[in-house]
Amino acid sequence: MRLGWRGIVSARFAITNTIPNYQLLITIIGRISVMASYKVHVTKDNLVFCSGHFITFEGQCEPLHGHNYRTAVTLEGILDENEYVFNFVTLKKVMKALCDKLDHRLLLPTQNPLLDIQSDAASYTVRYKHKTYVFPKEDVVQLPIANTTAENLATWLCGELEAQLKDKGAANLTAIEMEVEETFGQSAICRKELHHLGPAKESSL
Ligand SMILES: [Zn+2]
Repeated sequence: MRLGWRGIVSARFAITNTIPNYQLLITIIGRISVMASYKVHVTKDNLVFCSGHFITFEGQCEPLHGHNYRTAVTLEGILDENEYVFNFVTLKKVMKALCDKLDHRLLLPTQNPLLDIQSDAASYTVRYKHKTYVFPKEDVVQLPIANTTAENLATWLCGELEAQLKDKGAANLTAIEMEVEETFGQSAICRKELHHLGPAKESSL
């Protein structure tokens, strides 16, 4: 049965009078709380690193070369007591320090079974089949990864950032997404889910 506008008004009036707590009911429905989630995203011109590397793949070893890498990071979570997912200033400082660790260095993967890496007091000697590289130690950053692909660099950065976020007690975070752009237009993203420990903050719709 279809009601005309007079019928609708009458019906509403009837309900209003029938249910004494009608307005209370409407108020409660309007204040139904839902869990909200948020993201913060940071990418800045100084969150970059210029580094040398080479990758082994398909029985080959790339020639030594370098990239101007760019990073971008996204943190997901619920709002903390400051109404932040995470403080932008702190996040930029942490990311800048991580990028500085890699900047102007040769990135050497220590978990690559195809590379023979020996060291003495001053240098690393790296062998792959007929190739031999000798790098001054102060020019090298050793990374516990199998290959210095953009994917693995993103993974390493993600892990380093996660450790620092935990130290800072950011229990409201639920995920990190770390992006490493190797060359303009080509990048890799590592996403890591986190187990947030804090109570959920609720917001009313
Ligand atoms: Zn490369």
